[in-house]
Amino acid sequence: MRVILLGAPGSGKGTQAAGLAQQLKVARISTGDIFRDEITKKTELGTRADEYVKSGRLVPDQLVLNMVFKRLDQSDCSGGFLLDGFPRTVDQAEGLNSYLAKKSLKIDYVFYLDVSEDVLIQRLSQRRHCPGCQMVYNLLTNPPQADSVCDRCGGKLISRGDDEPNTLKKRLMVYQELTSPLVAYYKASGHFAAIDGAKVAADVAQEIAGHLGGAKI
Ligand code: ADP
Ligand code: ZN
Repeated sequence: MRVILLGAPGSGKGTQAAGLAQQLKVARISTGDIFRDEITKKTELGTRADEYVKSGRLVPDQLVLNMVFKRLDQSDCSGGFLLDGFPRTVDQAEGLNSYLAKKSLKIDYVFYLDVSEDVLIQRLSQRRHCPGCQMVYNLLTNPPQADSVCDRCGGKLISRGDDEPNTLKKRLMVYQELTSPLVAYYKASGHFAAIDGAKVAADVAQEIAGHLGGAKI
């Protein structure tokens, strides 16, 4: 199965993606995680992406598409994949479409996590993440059991640099301008479901599972 999770920064894509990819037994592809990893490792791609990620802008489409296509060509994606944070522009979506069309594949579901801007800002300012295993926490709604320590791997939790207030505002603006048109884009393409992303994570997961109920998971 091939699934896209669509939503603003802070809408809960990462949180849902982890569980859903496991449930569906498909590869999870988070472009944000890949970029952060490349940046930490100081690879050529990381060096090129760094200035964009740091300032809350989008990495140029061609760079993103090349990276994603290379990732999708890997064998663990042959049984399906879950895209988290990609596509983020209409051009990326069209690039993905032609990549899939060449292989006679299609996207089975697009889930849009709908969350108001107030809630997004509140969530992102309280967000912490584990650089070791990519687990995401929220100090108010989903805190770790021990202060600043990852429940899953024991890593030290940190706040992402791009969650700092000014960069955060920039990311939300970029989302409105470049990514939100994808809601209409995918609505028109069928197999689209808007999910109330303001609910607690477990309820959001249940709502998504409900849509997949008829599907083989
Ligand atoms: P969030 O969804 O919380 O904004 P992500 O982890 O998905 O965070 O992305 C962090 C940053 O990585 C983005 O602000 C952007 O700079 C870059 N990025 C991630 N995915 C893409 C993409 N598909 N296209 C362009 N830039 C991307
Ligand atoms: Zn961890």
